[in-house]
Amino acid sequence: MSTVVKKTINLKIDGKDVTAPEGTVILEAAKKNGFEVSNLCYNRKLKPFAACRTCMVETVVDGEKELVYSCTHPVAEGMEVKTNTQETDRYNKACLEMLLVEHPLDCPICDKSGVCPLQDNTNALKLYNGRFEINRRNEPSIKSNPIIELYLNRCIMCGLCVRACDETQGVQALDFHKRGMKVGIGTANNEPLDCEFCGQCITVCPTGALMDMTSEARGLAAMYKDTHTTCTYCSWGCTLKLQTKKGKVLRIEADEDYGVGINEGNLCAKGRFGHGIIHNEDRIKSPLMNHGGEFKEVSWDEAIQTIAERLQSTVNRSGPDSIAGIGSEKMTNEESYLFQKLFRNQFGSNQVTNLANLRAPYINQFMLDCFKGGIVSKPITELEHADVVLVFNSDLPSEYPVAGNSIRKGAVFTGTDIIIANPRNVVFNNEAQGDLRLTFTHGADLAVVNRLMRILIDENLIDLKKAKAAVPNFDDLVKSLKTCNAKNTGKTTGLSDEVLTQAARQFAKKADRFVLIGNDILDTGQGEDILKALLNLSLLVQHGGEGSVSIYPPREHCNSQGANDMGVTPEFLPGYQSAGNPAALETLSREWGREPLQPAKENLAEDLFTNCANGKLKLLYVAGEDPVHSYYKAALVKEALQTVPFLVVQDVFMTETAKMADIILPTVSFAEKDGTFTNITRHVQRVKAATLPQGMSKPDFDIFCELADALDKPFQHNTVEGVQEEIGRTVPFYKETLPGDDSQQWQASGFTAKPEFQIGQAYEEAASVDGYPYRLQTNNHMFHIGSYTQHAKALTDVGPDCFAEVHPEDAEALNLQEGDRIVVESKVTKVEVPVKLSYVTARGLIYIPKNWVDVPVHLLRNGEEGLISIKVSKAG
Ligand code: SF4
Repeated sequence: MSTVVKKTINLKIDGKDVTAPEGTVILEAAKKNGFEVSNLCYNRKLKPFAACRTCMVETVVDGEKELVYSCTHPVAEGMEVKTNTQETDRYNKACLEMLLVEHPLDCPICDKSGVCPLQDNTNALKLYNGRFEINRRNEPSIKSNPIIELYLNRCIMCGLCVRACDETQGVQALDFHKRGMKVGIGTANNEPLDCEFCGQCITVCPTGALMDMTSEARGLAAMYKDTHTTCTYCSWGCTLKLQTKKGKVLRIEADEDYGVGINEGNLCAKGRFGHGIIHNEDRIKSPLMNHGGEFKEVSWDEAIQTIAERLQSTVNRSGPDSIAGIGSEKMTNEESYLFQKLFRNQFGSNQVTNLANLRAPYINQFMLDCFKGGIVSKPITELEHADVVLVFNSDLPSEYPVAGNSIRKGAVFTGTDIIIANPRNVVFNNEAQGDLRLTFTHGADLAVVNRLMRILIDENLIDLKKAKAAVPNFDDLVKSLKTCNAKNTGKTTGLSDEVLTQAARQFAKKADRFVLIGNDILDTGQGEDILKALLNLSLLVQHGGEGSVSIYPPREHCNSQGANDMGVTPEFLPGYQSAGNPAALETLSREWGREPLQPAKENLAEDLFTNCANGKLKLLYVAGEDPVHSYYKAALVKEALQTVPFLVVQDVFMTETAKMADIILPTVSFAEKDGTFTNITRHVQRVKAATLPQGMSKPDFDIFCELADALDKPFQHNTVEGVQEEIGRTVPFYKETLPGDDSQQWQASGFTAKPEFQIGQAYEEAASVDGYPYRLQTNNHMFHIGSYTQHAKALTDVGPDCFAEVHPEDAEALNLQEGDRIVVESKVTKVEVPVKLSYVTARGLIYIPKNWVDVPVHLLRNGEEGLISIKVSKAG
């Protein structure tokens, strides 16, 4: 809710009293209150346009009757609205009739057939026999890109695709072409569509003029079965519809209905077109056992029995803490819960973790410190109503694409101001009045945040007395900012103090503020301190300013948040109870009805790979992760997996990690299982199966239950609902959120508020290494995340190859052209990759996405934190 309070308007629609916020157009007020008004070009996420002219209604204000377009005309106090009168129907029908000249309703093979507003409006207005002769356009279908087909014969010039591409996505890949009768939609110079392939144009197109070519089946949309579920890729947690026919997932659609999920029907390329992982030939088809380097198929019974025996014998021989597990940030909450329970309850081992926690355990602590500071953060559905959004070190269109959609909507409808702080000159086109870019020298993140705080204090932009009274160590913070003056900051960050002052003023004003933090901070080597500094900044405005602040920990995958909530960490039991707290362990033992749980003697999972490599850990169970490819200490991971005596891997595809396993168990994709995911903003959302497990694969949930049975220690519950009930008791803040049909944010209740500034150490970036003058930055590519998207054909079609982004001036100095192959070399190894020239990347910084197995950028790093030093040369 923005701090700008809108007046409530009272009006009548077809005799019924309704209310709407000031500025709402009549059509929106009618829709929200269940009235049907014909229309074809309206979308609540876009600015009013009035292209189709089929939404005429009658209004009476102060006795004055008027016919108005309901999609552009705002509600007024005391207004009486009449929909579907003889007069409005006659007018709307005439406009529709003209559209039907070029688009007759003979629709058997159209993707929108059965869900087409043109059909619906024609039926609603009873327009069965038009007066005009049909005059088809006879345009050829355009299939010049791999994903979206343009079939202009069905286009009704509503402009929704052009507007969504511009206003929602900030891309402007589509536009109106030509004039008069020849007007049409297309790309610049009719070149192949080159965009973010978000597919919003397909969602908003009311007819079948834009179609999804990734689907194997065409036509009769109404014949598909819809299953609402949650996206399996990034942590934003978009709700989507899996559309199946004869049990097969054929395509993914968005749902723009009110109140569905957190994304208002927006999706990105990964969410919408990434279904190629489901019915995929490359999937692991049956359990496999490694016989001297060769994998042989075995039965599920044999595989489960072997694992159970190995687990038990290892524990008997070497103690419970000699077995460890890495849980996946893509498993459901229920699966994650059972995974940690399998270790803690069945064996008494606390050695469970997930890759993000292994690398950056401070992320969970940051979230808890936010709660302690009294910052509980609003549901993310409020993001579009924010007054100010600070995006820190995130390339939104690649990292949280749908967050970008909400922020752009806020810029148009709420007047949201945007501050983007990033060492890369990231592209984020939007219509905000206030759009500040803090493009700072790489490595200077802390200096930027510290200077913002110093300005807030020096300029009295917040109530210092109030802040001091609320946060006891206020003076320590002030002391720690002593050197953060304009001169020092300018030297470190390359930013002028004017722009920093503007940003500080924008952030300090009375506002509902949102802070979104990118996973890029993990690559700076100062992630923990950056989070502490951002928390301090938030605490200052929370306690000394007016309005609110919402700040979320950076999370990467669809259930990164949930894996931690469920206790897949050695530090925390389910619900963030300390794993060393005897009282919490006792409560959990009582719930589980087993022997008392003991605090771990050693926390081997905190440095899990080292403890595999040095022989302390004897068995490792990796459920749904590929650390060889995706963990930043790739060389150590390989050594660890080669050393650990027994390695179990459970996954959908044959990953680099699976290739090193003793036993591989085939598990299912998100489309074949039930449960919940929790997104970055703590929204617990339903995951629902749309198709049966493929081949012999099984949901992780079933595998864990079977293992518990084989160990003769079955879980109390072996249904998703039963485990949800149990979670409701052991993680009390989940109680009201499950089973998650709606999108519910779990509330930060039960955490003691005791605000405190986190005073970090002054950070000094490691000097660049002689002979290695460039710095390397890595993150996910716009079309790829984790290890699965490389198996989704549509995504590899639009994002086929890895590349190194090089600033054109650096390229010139290195005598490089676009497409040249270069060798990128660190002190430990080198990779070869083609060059992409880009002004997004800063001078001296080389950016390489981390998603390609054949370009293992993590090996360059060799475990080193921060922006590592590299050298670049033309491949010979
Ligand atoms: Fe999926 Fe994230 Fe894209 Fe939403 S933004 S569709 S959750 S990948």
